[in-house]
Amino acid sequence: MLRSVILAASRSSQVERLVATAPYTRDVVRRFVAGAATDDALRATRGLVDDGLAVTLDHLGEDTVRPEQATATRDEYLKLLKMLGDAGLTPAAEVSVKLSALGQMFDEQLAYDNARAICAAADAAGTTVTLDMEDHTTTDSTLEVLSRLRKDFPSTGAVLQAYLRRTESDCRELSSAGSRVRLCKGAYKEPESVAYQSAREVDKSYVRCMNILMSGDGYPMLATHDPRIISIGEDRARWFDRGPERFEFQMLYGIRPEEQARLAGEGYTVRTYVPYGDEWYGYLMRRLAERPANLVFFGRALISKK
Ligand SMILES: Cc1cc2nc3c(=O)[nH]c(=O)nc-3n(C[C@H](O)[C@H](O)[C@H](O)COP(=O)(O)OP(=O)(O)OC[C@H]3O[C@@H](n4cnc5c(N)ncnc54)[C@H](O)[C@@H]3O)c2cc1C
Repeated sequence: MLRSVILAASRSSQVERLVATAPYTRDVVRRFVAGAATDDALRATRGLVDDGLAVTLDHLGEDTVRPEQATATRDEYLKLLKMLGDAGLTPAAEVSVKLSALGQMFDEQLAYDNARAICAAADAAGTTVTLDMEDHTTTDSTLEVLSRLRKDFPSTGAVLQAYLRRTESDCRELSSAGSRVRLCKGAYKEPESVAYQSAREVDKSYVRCMNILMSGDGYPMLATHDPRIISIGEDRARWFDRGPERFEFQMLYGIRPEEQARLAGEGYTVRTYVPYGDEWYGYLMRRLAERPANLVFFGRALISKK
């Protein structure tokens, strides 16, 4: 219930104004977002890489409605990739891209062209791209763009969401050799017709999907903070004899950093998803929807008189 309310608020410009102007919002944002500028993203990446973690960088922004916004997003990624390459931070750092920020909502071909330019820049910088997955109305389009991109850039990564009923079948489709697939639970509000609604059903689906990916020929990227699922992931890695070059764990910036360090210390590949940029609202609201404890922290900020 609370999750649904927060996810609904993530689409409200009135709530966005309220949240953006609240006194302590900046402190809350700083916990989950590396900063506004490309230099902030680079600084955070350097720190994480020095600590033995891999990184995927997300320039915040989604649901773009104008071509010039989509072009600006593309250009930011091109600049970021050049800077990462010049700084020697590739291939440890790759980028995560939302097609909706590249024009998918109004012109799928434009989103493809923009994503292709980003894949080419990543390739030139010695790294790769993962296409984030958004709400279920975009899944077919995103997988279609992915398959076109993979013709020239086969290491382009996909994201599959365990809460969708279709995902076991998508995992089978995408578990072929060389296929990089990030498996996450899913962060959007989805109807019962397409998505499991209870945490238990989603967790069970996650494990079934993980089994398909870990026993397949691709490169699974297990994106979760869930201790039970991480432990099952460690178990499957032993079971299917997958060393650190054959799968990875992924977690979000600012969430369970000690667990990220622990897994890296045990020799696993661990990648931190690092968002940066001004348009943090939708991202922040999804993080709040996931965890009531974060909401308490944020509520204090909102009502503060200071
Ligand atoms: C790298 C990465 C990329 C992602 N990309 C996408 C994407 O493209 N599309 C998409 O829809 N979603 C994406 N997500 C979000 C994902 O779908 C989930 O919404 C999010 O990860 C929360 O699910 P969870 O698996 O961590 O488990 P949850 O069910 O949220 O939490 C399970 C347990 O994990 C522990 N935990 C969780 N958060 C914390 C915390 N802050 N502190 C301490 N313990 C905690 C708690 O024990 C909790 O009970 C991504 C997530 C990650 C990590």
